[in-house]
Amino acid sequence: MSEKETYIDEAEKYLFHVYNRFPVVFERGEGVRLYDTDGKEYLDFGSGIGVMALGYGDEEYRQILKDQIDRILHTSNLFYHPPLKAAAKAMVKVSGMDKVFFTNSGAEAVEGALKTAKKYAYLRDGVSGHEIIAMGHSFHGRTVGSLSVTGSEHYREPFLPLMEGVRFAEFNNIDSVKEQLTDRTCAIILEPVQGEGGLYPAKESFLKEIRRICDERDILLIFDEIQCGMGRTGSMFAFQKFGVRPDILTCAKAMGAGVPVGAFLVTDRVAEASLVPGDHGTTYGGNPLVCAAVAGTVDIMEKRNIVGRVAERTPYFERILDSFVERYGFVTARRGMGFMQGLVLTIPVGDVIRRALDHGLVLLSAGSDVLRMLPPLVTTEADMDEMAKRLGRVFDEFEK
Ligand SMILES: *Cc1c(COP(=O)(O)O)cnc(C)c1O
Repeated sequence: MSEKETYIDEAEKYLFHVYNRFPVVFERGEGVRLYDTDGKEYLDFGSGIGVMALGYGDEEYRQILKDQIDRILHTSNLFYHPPLKAAAKAMVKVSGMDKVFFTNSGAEAVEGALKTAKKYAYLRDGVSGHEIIAMGHSFHGRTVGSLSVTGSEHYREPFLPLMEGVRFAEFNNIDSVKEQLTDRTCAIILEPVQGEGGLYPAKESFLKEIRRICDERDILLIFDEIQCGMGRTGSMFAFQKFGVRPDILTCAKAMGAGVPVGAFLVTDRVAEASLVPGDHGTTYGGNPLVCAAVAGTVDIMEKRNIVGRVAERTPYFERILDSFVERYGFVTARRGMGFMQGLVLTIPVGDVIRRALDHGLVLLSAGSDVLRMLPPLVTTEADMDEMAKRLGRVFDEFEK
């Protein structure tokens, strides 16, 4: 057995086998490249599932975290600390929302969003028992609450019964949403660009009509931008492109560029008539380390115009991906927005990802038929050319 195989064998003795990991042991990263314990180099078009927005080892970002570690790591939410204000102010500024609550993950942000919507309706109506409308093929996380609004039977089935009162509508089909409305509906939750569900962007008309329905009936609109937010689509949040503002916004993944942090943000109207002290909390959420990372990430993104660059480089990225659709019969379509793209394949996606790793390219899947790419937001045209070269070699092997 190689050193790597021995390592994996021994690690698996202790790990609860809940992931099928690829047999790669990543040791360090630099820019958009990863290096494994054999010293092999990989171009990373997955960025740790959309997290490593600034790539690996950014000097300025690293210094911000090191400085914070030297000062204070954790205080709990019983107190204030300097990076808390900086991170809150940064998130409110870039989102155009009014208030923020920091969480430790995406799923936890969704949980907070759902509780906020329920409490809002409870205060308004004086009774509980409200319903939530979610979309088919949505993904909102793996905790019981977030799984309850996730539109995938495969993920849900073993854990039934989940949270009551969730109805599913079809994404981009306004009539199907109307069919699920009742006088107990308190919220509609959706991803402006569906990630895990297959890289489907919402139609602007769909979002606008949902916004109108929500306004008319005092239903809260929750946008889950955990994957599509923080610059990934070429604007800070995808909803800003569509010109439809939610009442509650969830965010995570790229938000701290590598540290475990999420958030849900609300408008003043929601903040003033929903959760109050005692209703919700978290021990770690928004601690000094992650807040320093969030404030630093936003600052770096703005100073270097990283989101603007994503928008500028998107047409080049799309042209490369479209060329694969033209060149290979088993690549049937491209879908997505900005640096959140998918290629629809008729060959097994898992096999493509494994072969790509052999060729030094890290890719993701979305379901069983979409090859998903979420490159770091600092990825350049030259990196895209290199990706095209490596993926071309992989696809050539499948053509034989
Ligand atoms: C990843 C993701 C989540 C869950 O986030 P975790 O940090 O894994 O809990 C929720 N919603 C969307 C849209 C996601 O992409």
